[in-house]
Amino acid sequence: MHHCIRLIAILITLSTTLRLQAQSSLDDKLPVRGFCISAPVPSQLDNFLKFIKEELGPRHVNTLILRVEYNYQFESQPALRDSIALSKSDVQKLVKACKALNIKIIPQINLLGHQSWASRTGNLLKVHPEFDETPGVKMPAKYEWPNEDGLYCKSYCPLHPDVHTIVFSLVDEICDVFEASAFHAGLDEVFYIGDDKCPRCGGRDKAELFANEVRTINDHLKGKGRKLWIWGDRLLDGKTTGMGMWEASFNNTYRAIDLIPKDVMICDWHYERPDKTAVYFAMKGLKVATCPWRNPTVAVAQVHDMVSFRKDATNEMKDNYQGIVQTVWSDAGSFMDGFYGRKKGPGSETNTPWNCFRVAFGEINELK
Ligand SMILES: [Zn+2]
Repeated sequence: MHHCIRLIAILITLSTTLRLQAQSSLDDKLPVRGFCISAPVPSQLDNFLKFIKEELGPRHVNTLILRVEYNYQFESQPALRDSIALSKSDVQKLVKACKALNIKIIPQINLLGHQSWASRTGNLLKVHPEFDETPGVKMPAKYEWPNEDGLYCKSYCPLHPDVHTIVFSLVDEICDVFEASAFHAGLDEVFYIGDDKCPRCGGRDKAELFANEVRTINDHLKGKGRKLWIWGDRLLDGKTTGMGMWEASFNNTYRAIDLIPKDVMICDWHYERPDKTAVYFAMKGLKVATCPWRNPTVAVAQVHDMVSFRKDATNEMKDNYQGIVQTVWSDAGSFMDGFYGRKKGPGSETNTPWNCFRVAFGEINELK
């Protein structure tokens, strides 16, 4: 009996040691192993908690970017809440589930751009139309791209004197409730910036406007001991690289790469090709994670690129190569339906976000 207990104790120690070794080897090869998705609506919360425990934990995901937006019962700005939104105790369940698995939650609210989607205005500009960078552009009844206004998404005016008081109260509240040490501000696909008709921004340098907004947000977060994460597309030159106006910038914001603070973390998304832009960010002194979406072949190449960039880097650059973040652009409920085979994905069965997630993290876990 005595021996038996001792044997069990040895086995437990051994398995813990092996698990920790695997973990630390992964941490060295790919420090950030992320998953990015919309925060679940309250009715999907339990399913999502189960998904965290059964799928994210065992795959050694250690970073969960949750796009919260207005899906929280904000107390600081109750007028900005979605009509159905997560409560404080809902969020505490997410925090608890992630803590148990050593997963760091990074909440996201889109700042600057993405203040509307198709023909729907987001809550910030609905409640505060005075923040609209392009108030002259009316939201269409039926959205179509391309359109005469070049309307993709609305932006807020970064030079409006009152905008940061409002958005930072949201940022602080969401970071507090999620116990977050980092915040993701979005900042992708900002098409409207420095609009000629804006009395504050018109005629100003768009790269400087963009960089100043990044700096303002970063300074605010830093004051609370938090890091800023953003998408990288505005910092890439769309024309020279051939990456186009979504995946990169066609409105001259790309020079901001030399103007933003170096402690901002870049989420560098490329969905069609494994572009080697992580090297570009790393050489600028920025930390970067590469983000796949739904193409598993591209994602596997991105995993291997990131590992080899990191392995072959100088000591100065090594730590700039942070890892991989699987991005999901549907809501959590639709993703889980696809993941668990409850519904068919759009397009082929191979190129779906859930298949990409499975394959990419299969590959990542082979690195141990
Ligand atoms: Zn403006």
